[in-house]
Amino acid sequence: MPVQNSTQAMIERRNRLLGPAYRLFYEEPVQFVRGEGVWLYDPAGQRYLDAYNNVACVGHSHPRVVEAIAKQAATLNTHTRYLHETILDYAERLLATFPAEIGNIMFTCTGSEANDLALRVARTCTGGTGIVVTQTAYHGVTGALAEISPSLNLPDPTAPHVRLVPAPRPAGDKTGEIFAGHVRAAFEDMKKNGIRPAALLVDTIFSSDGVFADPPGFLAAAVEAAHAAGALFIADEVQPGFGRCGDGLWGFARHKLIPDMVTMGKPMGNGHPIAAMAAKPALLKEFGARSRYFNTFGGNPVSAAAATAVLDVIEQEGLTENAKRAGADLRERLNALRSRHALISDVRGAGLFIGVELRHGDAPATKETARLVNRMRERHVLISAAGPDGNVLKIRPPLVFGTEHADLLVETLDQALREIATT
Ligand code: PMP
Repeated sequence: MPVQNSTQAMIERRNRLLGPAYRLFYEEPVQFVRGEGVWLYDPAGQRYLDAYNNVACVGHSHPRVVEAIAKQAATLNTHTRYLHETILDYAERLLATFPAEIGNIMFTCTGSEANDLALRVARTCTGGTGIVVTQTAYHGVTGALAEISPSLNLPDPTAPHVRLVPAPRPAGDKTGEIFAGHVRAAFEDMKKNGIRPAALLVDTIFSSDGVFADPPGFLAAAVEAAHAAGALFIADEVQPGFGRCGDGLWGFARHKLIPDMVTMGKPMGNGHPIAAMAAKPALLKEFGARSRYFNTFGGNPVSAAAATAVLDVIEQEGLTENAKRAGADLRERLNALRSRHALISDVRGAGLFIGVELRHGDAPATKETARLVNRMRERHVLISAAGPDGNVLKIRPPLVFGTEHADLLVETLDQALREIATT
């Protein structure tokens, strides 16, 4: 069957079987059958540069992670109601990467479960229900999280316990006071309406809001405002965590603040489903006194082995340092494209989490951004778009991204920008 027909047949089969809620990437969806490092391969053996998948942080199918999973799966896989050293060794090692105030960690299978658990803890410990999130946030798939994930276009704006604040635009708010003002006002409005605050929950790189990273420190004032309102601060590290931002393992650390809880997932097992919520022990003392926690798969020995191997590789291959170096280099080169392409209005980010904003003067270049993402895919470079207007190219490759990959990405973007300027 020609590739085109087989792709169409697969799309139809998928729709028939999985139903209509799923979405595919790209005008011309793509099928992959193999991955290695920063490369993905289609059934015809053609390779694509993956500049989008932050899950495979140490590279697709990294042999160390594969081996750790296979070895543990061949030995034992049970759950956290039995004693097992691997989860304890991993917990000890990961907790050592947090500020001393964060002393406990609970394991889940997905970032959604981690955020859902953090909300439960916040609500238990504050006695409140009110949550503040950013305007285009995404925090997960559970009922409680869909309500506070406006990027899904789902939240009921009248949900009494939810307040949305505009994402910080640090370029015009260097101290973060404007953002903190929005957070303060949101909690005050909640209280006026009889809702007790529970948490400020933010993705510390504001990825779905359009990637806002600098200047480091701008987030601290908003966290103070949340605390002053009696709410807890939950740092969602599902996107920025595990070294992607190039300064230590965590996005919040760049802002010199101490979260009450930290949630993480995606890259934690390099594709194996492991996620977690780390917290100040006093919070879990209160939560644990009222609730019992068991997650059948969360933190099982195979997952713990996968996550341990990921940390080993991040450390041994110096991937945090690489994220810093390769990210700075890539941003510099993307910035250089601005002299040829007026559409690029801003290049920003931290480490290998990069946003490239496209505008026509004051207007967001939404259509052009979508066209660019698709023209890049045609040229076998995978990226996507973010932001409330969908006009920010989201570039987020595996952390093993090097100079030759940056060359290919920038050259391809240059060509695609030229193409959309002339068609
Ligand atoms: N938080 C953020 C910031 C995310 O980007 C995501 C996933 N895209 C989640 C939470 C939910 O993670 P998961 O898909 O593993 O449930």
